[in-house]
Amino acid sequence: MDSTRHIARHVRPIPKSGIRDFFEVVQTMSDVISLGIGEPDFDTPWHIREAAIYSLEKGHTHYTSNLGAPALRAAIAGYVEKHFHIAYCPKSEIIVTIGVSQALDAALRAILNPGDEVLYHEPCYVSYSPSIVLCHGVPVAVATRAEDGFRVTAEAIAAKITPRTRALMLNFPTNPTGGTQTREELEKIAALCIKHDLVVLSDEIYSELTYDGAEHISIASLPGMQERTVFLHGFSKAFAMTGFRIGYACAPAPLTDAMMKIHQYGILCASITAQDAALEALENGAPAVAGMRAKYEARRNYIVDSLNGMGLDCINPLGAFYAFPSITSTGLSSQEFSLRLLKEKKVAVVPGSAFGPSGEGFVRCSYATSLREIKIAMKRMAEFCKEVRGK
Ligand code: PMP
Repeated sequence: MDSTRHIARHVRPIPKSGIRDFFEVVQTMSDVISLGIGEPDFDTPWHIREAAIYSLEKGHTHYTSNLGAPALRAAIAGYVEKHFHIAYCPKSEIIVTIGVSQALDAALRAILNPGDEVLYHEPCYVSYSPSIVLCHGVPVAVATRAEDGFRVTAEAIAAKITPRTRALMLNFPTNPTGGTQTREELEKIAALCIKHDLVVLSDEIYSELTYDGAEHISIASLPGMQERTVFLHGFSKAFAMTGFRIGYACAPAPLTDAMMKIHQYGILCASITAQDAALEALENGAPAVAGMRAKYEARRNYIVDSLNGMGLDCINPLGAFYAFPSITSTGLSSQEFSLRLLKEKKVAVVPGSAFGPSGEGFVRCSYATSLREIKIAMKRMAEFCKEVRGK
């Protein structure tokens, strides 16, 4: 019997993630070098894992406050003030979540009325558009271009604003392009948000991972923006804690209160083990973060040089751990390029089209893989490009 009719109308058309489909193929193959992974290859630093072990030893096996353990919220307030220059009240403006994923979902559910439009720059993280649809919102993509370093411009955003526009989602450094943003452009975007009374959801998950001394600025730190921004951050990337599933949202008290209702009834609180580990990460994790960041930077230098060397034009990404080269010079679509590279050379990259239509013509190469593997992958990719071009 067909049970499709039991599925809600807005859920039925949502496609499954293109990345997952692709990696199901990868998993059936052996000896593949994967540049497809969207998470750190490093294990969580040992002192953070130890904190999780001690947490269990001490019998921390109960619920915490719905908002999160007070000590962790205080540490988050200190961290965000120190690194982003934004002051949040740990009692009323911070909520500890199951990663940025749940923070984003709670924020969207808290602010959207059915039919509200949400702008986001694209190519982007695969979850944005479906997350908006799941909250009965309407996703509106604003395309970015390699020529602009994949920076969304205030001008491009302005062109998509309608009376139904409710919110703008930003993610710098960006998954999948590694793009970052300038203070000048962010100021223009902020002025636009104030003019049109938009809420900003700012996904800061890669903010610690910037290179060449690039400064990371959160839009929430600009004048007049804290009151209209939901600041989303977590531990998955900089602290290599994806499996802990821990993150947070900071927002003005009324917004935090609204998210809290969704959080409280939906999930109660984040895991106490993960919260204890996160506290250790904030208190003592800086040297480990710096060490991993330096390794990513060395890998980025290698991978970007190699890609450009084989004729795949690639901007120098100033953040995250992704290179996003153009593959148009091969004459293949991003899907064809990725599938053939996988079959013929056993290297997995992600087709840019998985990140939205404006990702077509590009592939995402993650450098959250050892330099040794990256070197082999680059050699194989160069051979592949030569063969495809018939040289
Ligand atoms: N935002 C972006 C831009 C991401 O790339 C990811 C993970 N790939 C997430 C959010 C999800 O993060 P978390 O593990 O904190 O849920």
